[in-house]
Amino acid sequence: MEYGHCGSCSAPNAPLKCPCQATHYCDKECQRDDKNAHRGGCSYFLRKDIDRLCRQLQMLKAQHNCSAFEVAVKEDKLAGLHHVVGDLLRLTLLPSNYPLAEDHLKQGLEISRRMEADYRVFPRSSDEGKNSIGMLNNLGLLYSQWDKKGAALEAYEHARDCLRTTMSAHGSTPWHQQTLADILSAQGDIYNRQYDRQGHGSDKQKCHAEQAQALGEEALAIHRALNAQADRCAVLPDDILNEDNRKERTAEVLLIVCHTYENLEMFDKARSAVQEAMDLSRSCHGNGSENIAICLGRISTICCRQSRAIKTSLDASSSSYSPGTRMRVEGLKNQTQWNGLEGVVLKQAGGSRVCVRLDQDNKDFRLKLENVYLLVATVDERKELFAQLQDLAEEAITSQTESLRIQVKVKGTKHVNTACDYYNLGSAFARTDKPAETRKAVSLLTKACKILRRVAATNSPDLLKYRQALEHAEVVLARFDEAGVLSAMPCWWPPTSRQEDEVEMAELFASLHRADGSGSASISSELMQQELRMHGLFNFTASSSDPVSGRETVALAVAYHSSSYQPCVRVSMCVFVWGRTAAKLMRALLTRTIDPRTQISGCVMDLYFIVLVVIILQCQ
Ligand SMILES: [Zn+2]
Ligand SMILES: [Zn+2]
Repeated sequence: MEYGHCGSCSAPNAPLKCPCQATHYCDKECQRDDKNAHRGGCSYFLRKDIDRLCRQLQMLKAQHNCSAFEVAVKEDKLAGLHHVVGDLLRLTLLPSNYPLAEDHLKQGLEISRRMEADYRVFPRSSDEGKNSIGMLNNLGLLYSQWDKKGAALEAYEHARDCLRTTMSAHGSTPWHQQTLADILSAQGDIYNRQYDRQGHGSDKQKCHAEQAQALGEEALAIHRALNAQADRCAVLPDDILNEDNRKERTAEVLLIVCHTYENLEMFDKARSAVQEAMDLSRSCHGNGSENIAICLGRISTICCRQSRAIKTSLDASSSSYSPGTRMRVEGLKNQTQWNGLEGVVLKQAGGSRVCVRLDQDNKDFRLKLENVYLLVATVDERKELFAQLQDLAEEAITSQTESLRIQVKVKGTKHVNTACDYYNLGSAFARTDKPAETRKAVSLLTKACKILRRVAATNSPDLLKYRQALEHAEVVLARFDEAGVLSAMPCWWPPTSRQEDEVEMAELFASLHRADGSGSASISSELMQQELRMHGLFNFTASSSDPVSGRETVALAVAYHSSSYQPCVRVSMCVFVWGRTAAKLMRALLTRTIDPRTQISGCVMDLYFIVLVVIILQCQ
């Protein structure tokens, strides 16, 4: 990392550091010139002041008839100093400073609490508790920066208790309400990040999101009540009832609440929250402010989450017998009463059986493959979802592009935030899973890494994250260029590698083999349907449940090909004619003696499926 600008004359690359580590100087002279201005904000000097004050206090208390008032004044000052130093150390953002910051805030808190309990010196006033609450809030901030979520929540909880006590004693002023809203939204934000960190799905995570929702919505309600009291007479910008101040604070909470709604997959609510935040920011700062860039970034995150939810549902309904796939019981000969009932796949048990749980009474069954009809999305449903994915990808790219434009204008090209926006835009392009866009993603992510390398420390976790995203995009790009990739590749899936294709092919053949059982050449039409569906083919309907012949399957495949249901999707077909045995073809595929590219030459690696039809011919 480069040296900072001189704290005195602003010259770049100032090599001398103040012992507080936060300010740089050209030389001793510049340092001397700045001494008086810097002193009040320098943790090094202020810590010396603390030591001096402590010695004075000790001496004072040692005196026989010391004045309680004088002691109180000094202690009050000491608590204030601890608070300032703790916060200065926190703001260095250096984890090595955090233990010291914690120590100062705790000492300050201890003094404040002791003094607040001591009514003889200071009569009760509505200001009571303000110092402790402030200190607890900063302790909460410190812990959440430090990644100590539990301690942070606890500090905020104490702050809330403290606030409740003074509110019941002195009534609730706008300051109290605002402080309560701040604490609630800070807690909500911690739950949001906990949810982000630990992934989704389990009940515990859902509980975090619901807690965040309750906290955030309560904070928002307080804000709305305060907004109703906003006062034209409150002209000072930091007055809680100042109109612009109200708008800014409300926008901040709306963004936190929006994040929670995203986690809960309540996308409409998330969108309306971010829209409201954007309108508020626009009315304070116009269209080109960083706040607008942040809102636009949020919109792009919503798009991303929404696409992820859609992809999950597509995945669940396309791979065969994967847990969670919806199914219907069909064709039971003995217990016909279960036929027609629906449920979900639990797991595949052995080669030819599937464990399922029916919706009715949560009853578990082990059924034969032929009795499990998978309820995958229909062609039209998939088309609809696919169109939604396209729209979301475009919306994410549009809003992220605008956010980047603003960021470059506000912060310049060499700034952490600009790097972050390059990263976000690159990721939005990468998520399209299309070749041209992936190429664009690689160039944007390269830029993001380049900027961050210049402005951040070499061990910055963001740098690692950016590099990983870049590497991933490069791998995906290489796959698009790879020769002979066989993947049945609906465009909502990232391209697979040759190796993954081979694994999938092997599985496909293995299951065909299993169905084969006796070594007979025919397979059941239901199984064929299911396997084809797994590869993006949905239009096949078996005319009977008798085993199908290869010739019939070819006819179906050709009929499907000519129906070309998706004009934007180029459907091309690889037809492999299987001569003697499954093993022979598999070996041929795996050793690449059949190059699938020869069958699909001319296909642009664009939006398309390679529909892979495996035909089993009679081999008697
Ligand atoms: Zn200087
Ligand atoms: Zn300093």
